[in-house]
Amino acid sequence: PFPKPIDTEAIENIVRPFILSDDDYRKLMDSMLENFNKGLGKETNASARVKMFQTYVKSVPDGTESGDFLALDLGGTNFRVLLISLDGKEVKMESKIYLIPQHIMLGSGVQLFDHIAECIFKFMKDHDLMGKTLPLGFTFSFPCRQIGLDRAVLTNWTKGFKCEGVEGNDIVKLLHEAIERRGDIQVNCLAVINDTVGALMSCAHSDNSCAIGLILGTGTNACYIERLENVELWDGDWDEPQQVIINTEWGAYGDDGALDFVKTEYDRKVDKHSINPGKQVYEKMISGMYMGEIVRLVLVKLCKHGLIFGGRGSEELSTMGRFYTKYVSEIESDVNDHFKNTKQVFEDLMIPNHTEEDCRIVQHVCCLISTRAAYLASAGIACLLNKMNRPDVAVAVDGSLYRFHPHFHDLMVEKITQLLNPGIKFRLMLSHDGSGKGAALVAAVANRVQ
Ligand code: ADP
Repeated sequence: PFPKPIDTEAIENIVRPFILSDDDYRKLMDSMLENFNKGLGKETNASARVKMFQTYVKSVPDGTESGDFLALDLGGTNFRVLLISLDGKEVKMESKIYLIPQHIMLGSGVQLFDHIAECIFKFMKDHDLMGKTLPLGFTFSFPCRQIGLDRAVLTNWTKGFKCEGVEGNDIVKLLHEAIERRGDIQVNCLAVINDTVGALMSCAHSDNSCAIGLILGTGTNACYIERLENVELWDGDWDEPQQVIINTEWGAYGDDGALDFVKTEYDRKVDKHSINPGKQVYEKMISGMYMGEIVRLVLVKLCKHGLIFGGRGSEELSTMGRFYTKYVSEIESDVNDHFKNTKQVFEDLMIPNHTEEDCRIVQHVCCLISTRAAYLASAGIACLLNKMNRPDVAVAVDGSLYRFHPHFHDLMVEKITQLLNPGIKFRLMLSHDGSGKGAALVAAVANRVQ
């Protein structure tokens, strides 16, 4: 439920820039389509910001995949190692999360991959896999230019990672070298995919109308099935099906200024203080890594103008990154006037004085910012659906922002419906364990072909 508008002009003036019109969203879809086509074009790809990487994944699973596979999932908050047994439609899975300490996220590539190899070793030891050579699928969710299913060159780190000596290198090679250095274990990495492809593959396993994978988590990205005739740089085979999954890397949309007409001063501040200024502009307006911080900046401004908390914030509220995106979900989950979650967040942030009116205002701010994010993502999905022009498409969605925000799904269904060409039907499906299951499915298909 949309909170009642706050009857204070001063507040409305501060938050108004987050409210965009359908015309804005349509304008955005047009320029997005141009970006997609530029990325797909032979002559234009080199200068395109939205990279439209070919993934070399041509078919979705047919449900006959079988065998035991290892999968790795690296791409944001957690690093996981998984053991996956596929037997037709049946999937069994065991997994373990390993922490990647901050000093490794910002350290050297050798350290990162040695750490990964050590985690695989521990996992194999704990799961009685020593001495076996299992085929492995690697979900590596950073922008990579692929040269084949098992060759992926990192173009640039995103989402808080910055390990020296990895950009420009093939991550499968780095992984195999680290495993060699570690000794005592053997793995055979057959495929690199990213989390969007994992989500798509995992849903397609049970629903073959699935043709888009979408991530709304730490970052945002989407992939979709494109006809080979539209992929001007395609250098793989032309066997049936004449299609390939394209990893759009749409987080970089707007890096050429296309989103400047909707950017707010808060978006600019978030960007300025990020480790990749000027990059991932669309992602920074949508995803979980940044949403809480956008809200925080607005609250700090409202507080400064004496419009909330009696003008008295707290050191916590003034601390960059301290307003977590999960707070947005919690605050918007308050459905009555008791504001239980909202007050709890204020306590967490050590705000000395707060009123029910403050709760209403803060809820309103959260709502506007998450709604803008949901609508921006919807414009991207509507653009892809219109481009694909299939009559009926399931969209596989994964990521904590989509999963846990109380209204994200409904907001997206509403806005996509408004922006879609007539005659196209779609569904948003929550993808379960896409990064693990998807990687195993792609490895299984590759293993069969080998
Ligand atoms: P990944 O890092 O692989 O994208 P997730 O999909 O779990 O992993 O996304 C983590 C991000 O989701 C975090 O950056 C956080 O901001 C956001 N997040 C975590 N919990 C919630 C929540 N309850 N509501 C909204 N966003 C959340």
